[in-house]
Amino acid sequence: PPAPESHTFEADVAKLLHLMVHSVYSDKDVFLRELISNAADACEKLRYEAISHPALLGDDPKARITLLIDADNRRLTVEDNGIGMSRDEMVEALGTIARSGTRAFMDRIQAAQGGEGAQLIGQFGVGFYSAFMVADRVDVVSRRAGSDEATIWSSDGKGSYTVAPIALVEAPARGTRVVLHLMEDAKSYTERYRLERIVKSQSGHVPVPISLIEKPGAEPQEVADGAALWVKPRSEITPEEYTDFYRGVAGQFDEPALTVHFRAEGRHEYTALAFVPGSTPFDLFDPDRHGRMKLYVKRVFITDEAEILPRYLRFVRGLVDSADLPLNVSREMIQESPLLAAIKKGVTNRVLSELDKLAQNDAEAYTKVWETFGPVLKEGLYEDFERRQILLGLARFRTTASAGGWRSLNEYVSALKENQTAIYYVTGTELARLEASPQLEGFRARGIEVLLLPDPVDSFWVTAAIDYEGKPFKSVTQGAADLALIPLTEAKQEIDTNATEAVARFIQSVKETLGESVADVRASERLTESAVCLVASETGMDRQLERLLARAGQ
Ligand code: ADP
Ligand code: MG
Repeated sequence: PPAPESHTFEADVAKLLHLMVHSVYSDKDVFLRELISNAADACEKLRYEAISHPALLGDDPKARITLLIDADNRRLTVEDNGIGMSRDEMVEALGTIARSGTRAFMDRIQAAQGGEGAQLIGQFGVGFYSAFMVADRVDVVSRRAGSDEATIWSSDGKGSYTVAPIALVEAPARGTRVVLHLMEDAKSYTERYRLERIVKSQSGHVPVPISLIEKPGAEPQEVADGAALWVKPRSEITPEEYTDFYRGVAGQFDEPALTVHFRAEGRHEYTALAFVPGSTPFDLFDPDRHGRMKLYVKRVFITDEAEILPRYLRFVRGLVDSADLPLNVSREMIQESPLLAAIKKGVTNRVLSELDKLAQNDAEAYTKVWETFGPVLKEGLYEDFERRQILLGLARFRTTASAGGWRSLNEYVSALKENQTAIYYVTGTELARLEASPQLEGFRARGIEVLLLPDPVDSFWVTAAIDYEGKPFKSVTQGAADLALIPLTEAKQEIDTNATEAVARFIQSVKETLGESVADVRASERLTESAVCLVASETGMDRQLERLLARAGQ
């Protein structure tokens, strides 16, 4: 056979490879995702070409990806029976930077300083070359569909590569075999369970089945079946399949409380499959507050950091699969994409409307969701002005009239007293203490319902100057409420709360005693049993917020 031709890499490739080899980034697993995604792409390309040239499929029509472990020789092989590459295609595809995503990545690298570049690799993967993070030599043996020539491409990733023809018996019958000669510190990629776990978590929903051969000569074992669940119509998916999928994607072991699965068509085409967990995920109150929605492009996993849902929906798990976004765009490019903005909006609105539907149709199930995630959803009341009314509609409250249950604002508003102009609330840290608050006496005595707000987040949204159905939210602790206009219920009628002269004298002496400690001392309509209570001024800060800020040293 002719001697292998030696080629030097395009300057940019050489730079990129240098970075790969010297990558200190710890999450090297991404190389496998890249190679599998290339293998799957190759199968999809063949599938497409075979539409007009069915002969290309020969007697092997079923796409497959096979991982072969050879621990003794510290080798890992990724093989596909896809479209394959001719010699010229290999030189072009593996010797130059052909794809725009990698090009953009390189631009970032040029701007970034050493260490940061290595970080960037792990964040979005840069295709085929990431193999050099784990291998000190990579051989690619390929035979294009329909061709009777095969080629071997080989490189140590240090500036040059060779290409040479190879005997057909040493090549796959069709497609590409990528052989990684693993570095000493990457030999764990010959451990079967490790590979299985990585494949399932990164590529479990690639649209081509993936098998694993544990050692040379062993039988292939399927690790992923190649069926992307979300692509199937809803009517063909059983609840068990949804649950299994949810468990895989959410890392939870319970049943989802709500499953949202839809396909958006028209201007932007995408599929979303999202779940509200049935119980509290361990990282619900993680200070990072990261969402966990995965972004796929044409069934290839791209990132779970695209923040598809707002932070107050961070408990929702699932994915979006876009047909329009380019594959392999960088995270930054994704974030700025108007396509992604449209997806975010569509998915957020849909999740909220499905929650609302659940609330209408299955109050009991919805109550469970609210009990688990209510405090997080309430963050949206001050973070998402645009959807505040929807969120207020979804909110449920303990109130002085809820008798241990939950009330919606719709229920509250439809039970307003005559002359009642506001929705009253009291904030605090403990429900039991709120219920016993003397601030409520005057309201109770008049049969006016008061929202009991025990979550830290409550103090923030109630001060955001909002209303529901035209009724403002008002704290019971803030100045004189419109209690005067609402009569006491009968039992309390005889109590006279008019400030008589004696009361005036008493107030005067209290004022003198307390001096600077209080802004004012007033007779009040709000108490029926207790003698005194502390209130904030009408324009001042709510008492609970005041306390929170004091604690934060403000
Ligand atoms: P991308 O997949 O985004 O194009 P990669 O760096 O992952 O970028 O791969 C570069 C190119 O190499 C691919 O576009 C494809 O042409 C070729 N290639 C890589 N792996 C395979 C494969 N298994 N089968 C056929 N072609 C491949
Ligand atoms: Mg690729």
